[in-house]
Amino acid sequence: MEIIRHYIGGRWVTADPATLMDNIAPATGRVYSRVPCARAATVDDAVQAAQAAFPAWANLPAARRAAWLMAIADLIEARMEAFARAESLDTGKPLSLARRMDIPRAVENFRFFAHAITQFSSESHDMGEQGFNYTLRRPIGVAGLISPWNLPLYLFSWKIAPALAAGNTVVAKPSEITPMTASLLAQVCDDAGLPPGVLNIVHGMGPETGEAIVTHPGVSMISFTGSTAVGRRIAGLAAPAFKKISLELGGKNATIVFEDADYEAALAGTLRAGFTNQGQICLCGSRILVHRSLYERFVADLVARVRQLRVGDPLADDTDIGALVSQGHRAKVLHYLDLARAEGGTIETGGTLPDDLPPGLEGGYYLRPAVITGLGPGCRVNQEEIFGPVVTVQPFEDDAEAVRIANSTPYGLSAVIWTSHLARAHRVAAQLATGIVWVNSWLVRDLRTPFGGVRQSGIGREGGLEALRFFTEPKNIYIQL
Ligand code: NAD
Repeated sequence: MEIIRHYIGGRWVTADPATLMDNIAPATGRVYSRVPCARAATVDDAVQAAQAAFPAWANLPAARRAAWLMAIADLIEARMEAFARAESLDTGKPLSLARRMDIPRAVENFRFFAHAITQFSSESHDMGEQGFNYTLRRPIGVAGLISPWNLPLYLFSWKIAPALAAGNTVVAKPSEITPMTASLLAQVCDDAGLPPGVLNIVHGMGPETGEAIVTHPGVSMISFTGSTAVGRRIAGLAAPAFKKISLELGGKNATIVFEDADYEAALAGTLRAGFTNQGQICLCGSRILVHRSLYERFVADLVARVRQLRVGDPLADDTDIGALVSQGHRAKVLHYLDLARAEGGTIETGGTLPDDLPPGLEGGYYLRPAVITGLGPGCRVNQEEIFGPVVTVQPFEDDAEAVRIANSTPYGLSAVIWTSHLARAHRVAAQLATGIVWVNSWLVRDLRTPFGGVRQSGIGREGGLEALRFFTEPKNIYIQL
């Protein structure tokens, strides 16, 4: 059985056997590798390696750092199938999805930031005869990067690529539930000959390894993607040391279907936004708001489409819904289905464990995708992030009510609007209290845009120049003429 190792200072570090934990394949419920939990001393080794590598890496011309990122991207692309299989094995997601989305997007992340850093410039301000000033933007030092299990390589690379491009060195920790693609990435960096210590990958649990990274005095900035509860904890730990932080947290996103929407496109888009990756994407539209005039028809058609989704073997080409990431996570989702019943909701379809799984998969963490109706906006099921293949549908009377319901949770990550009315699309998009709004689409990416949420969905922005600004410190220099 594979034992995953830390990658520190360009060396593979075998963990203390006492720290090894089972890594379980969600598709089967079987242990298939063992993952270590880095203690504070191991994190300290990683930070020291990153500190030692920092001056040379920071002083490389941007084009040389860009070339390293391109080399990493090329190697991931060349090993696409191995990465996609590891991603599917770790998460339970359909292999076809990992091939189509996760791994290609991770490759794009490295390529995008390789290009971006060669185009990154800083400001100069002309003060006329008095003088001028300019702003130097320099890398900061060691970046601590912590990512979740739902899109393991994609989100890991979304942090690592800009941090390295900007000239920082990195100590990164993937989720302990999904360590495989991070380990393959370390192998890629090793094979590419990336200078030792530039990227260090340590594995382990959040409270032990994660907090050791966050609180280490040698780590100058933290970029975290994960749950709101852990984001709050990290903000509290980082604040006394005045560390720069970026937090990408949970969501409870609304999909709003207006009466003038292209009905078929809205139905297909709503289905995709609700259930892609078993509903385990922070941007999934789990609250579906439908204009009263369409409500009955839309619920009936959505339920019919959801029943057609094929649940099962992640390796089968025609699987739509694979396994949830862990037994504990499925138990959490099932708890919310019980809560939905207790709150007076109706489960129109799904929410049960499939009984027709192929041999060998009976121990996997599968769940039939569920559609719930009859719950008001204030119910816990409509307020709290479930993060599974579960959507609720609510009717609304007019634009004002749609906006009010959409904005009624503490979260503010994203929203989707389906309408053919141009002015309505602009007006409603501006009124939604979210960092991202998609109109007649979902999950379209333009890597140049600042990505992120507001309120309890996070602070700071990733993507494009925002990420390069986060990973650099401005210094203003005033010149008197
Ligand atoms: P999580 O918060 O439990 O864990 C995320 C990471 O933080 C893991 O690597 C974990 O080991 C680590 N961690 C846990 N406790 C820690 C601590 N005390 N100190 C430091 N690190 C700690 O989240 P998860 O269950 O892995 O992921 C699901 C969550 O992530 C959902 O809430 C989802 O919405 C969110 N998410 C947000 C975005 C976004 O861009 N906004 C993207 C993907 C996922």
